[in-house]
Amino acid sequence: MTYQHYIDGEWVDGHGTETFESENPATGESLGEFHRGTEADVREATAAADDAFETWRDLSHIDRAEYLWDIYHELKERHEELGEVVTKECGKEISEGKADVTEAWHMVEWAAGDARHPKGDVVPSEIPSKDAYMRRKPRGVVGCITPWNFPVAIPFWHMAVSLVEGNTVVWKPAEQTPWCGQIVAEMFEESGIPDGVFNMVQGYGDAGAAIVDDDRVDTVLFTGSAEVGHEIASEVASDPGKLAACEMGGKNGIVITEEADLDIAVHSAVMSSFKTTGQRCVSSERLIVHEDIYDEFKQRFVEVAEKVAVGDPLDDSTFMGPAIEAEHVEKIQQYNDLAREEATNVLVDRTELDDEEIPEGHEDGHWVGPFVYEVDYDPSLRCLKEEVFGPHVALVEYSGDIEHAVDIHNDTPYGLAGAVISEDYRQINYYRDHAEVGLAYGNLPCIGAEVQLPFGGVKKSGNGYPSAREVIEAVTERTAWTLNNSKEIEMAQGLSADIKTEDD
Ligand code: ADP
Repeated sequence: MTYQHYIDGEWVDGHGTETFESENPATGESLGEFHRGTEADVREATAAADDAFETWRDLSHIDRAEYLWDIYHELKERHEELGEVVTKECGKEISEGKADVTEAWHMVEWAAGDARHPKGDVVPSEIPSKDAYMRRKPRGVVGCITPWNFPVAIPFWHMAVSLVEGNTVVWKPAEQTPWCGQIVAEMFEESGIPDGVFNMVQGYGDAGAAIVDDDRVDTVLFTGSAEVGHEIASEVASDPGKLAACEMGGKNGIVITEEADLDIAVHSAVMSSFKTTGQRCVSSERLIVHEDIYDEFKQRFVEVAEKVAVGDPLDDSTFMGPAIEAEHVEKIQQYNDLAREEATNVLVDRTELDDEEIPEGHEDGHWVGPFVYEVDYDPSLRCLKEEVFGPHVALVEYSGDIEHAVDIHNDTPYGLAGAVISEDYRQINYYRDHAEVGLAYGNLPCIGAEVQLPFGGVKKSGNGYPSAREVIEAVTERTAWTLNNSKEIEMAQGLSADIKTEDD
């Protein structure tokens, strides 16, 4: 069978004639065939979402959240099964596959629980007889465009808060993970959510672009590459009524000072650089290490990078699964080539894994291992500026104080995540206050965000509407509401309310 789109409460083939396959990146096997959505399918989905909006917004937050509580329980009950689906479809090792599902129910729990929390603010007025409030209203139709690397969690980051706040949704899952998309859509169907409130169109970037372009879409939530995110943000900026919240990649760094505990430093660096095969938007590709501890850190980090277990992501002794697709392996190889030109020394090169490192039956998977190099800091080097999105790491030695390390750290166009490793609180606080990132960590890896914190970056990494908790900003609009309890009209700022006529 060919899996369908979910539009206005119906499973439909759509208007297109093309289909596409979901592929297991560890084996190359096909996991299913899906209809490829077209602009016409997106138009139908946005029309359905637009029609459903008036009735949906009239429900209370608490009634809307009830549909999400059903999904919360299902995500929990199906944890093991869905974790395996995530691992099979995107290649993350099994603890990460399961964590993706856990993060999804955490986000649903946060959004649905928030339905019973105070909304808006009561604000004092200069005039005692006036009551002033800040209230929030849903914006309308929210278009959600999500990436493959958190195929269950990120869709719920976008959709859970949007729906509880009273918006309707049109979602396009990533083309690499349509099976996860199918399962999430089935959950919405089973929750009994009214027709048209949740819609899903499977497909590629052209279907995503049709969502961005549609006049009925009031907010676009996007998580993915900087290239696409900037295109979306600039298109939406030319449409005054529309808003885009984009969370994009990074060239994330970890500063390891002369005061670092090296056990914490090595552990944090390995987790940050190689977890998810370096394919998290928060993965670290730059380790900025003080000269006093550089040699020892290098030796210990290289030792682990040489041995990190790459293999079958369903096997729980694996640390790193495959890359997502063949084109991505090519991109990583090209950046490894670039680093060979720009680096002073290549320390670990597992770009081509040995045959015995690839598990049996996985020969057609998209394999690539760690690549580690050292490089003298130079602001003109591309390998220190451009995001690879793979297990590709530069070691940069610095001398002097934390200020110098943070200058190097900030010398990228991106600003998503970063960490400092030090036992000196003054260095830690300097980093906290001066690192140009949206997510900063002390004595921890720079990965592993929790949903109750805002998630998003600065500079090229994001546009100021962080996801997770603070996505509320992007999917609601505020009304400053003032009510007069007096029979007289009295104005603020001493403004006269007297009406003067020629008869006065
Ligand atoms: P990644 O590099 O993580 O795959 P992309 O930015 O290419 O990130 O993709 C993230 C999401 O954006 C996917 O769902 C993809 O289909 C969608 N997408 C790709 N190109 C466009 C576009 N031009 N407009 C809107 N969505 C797009």
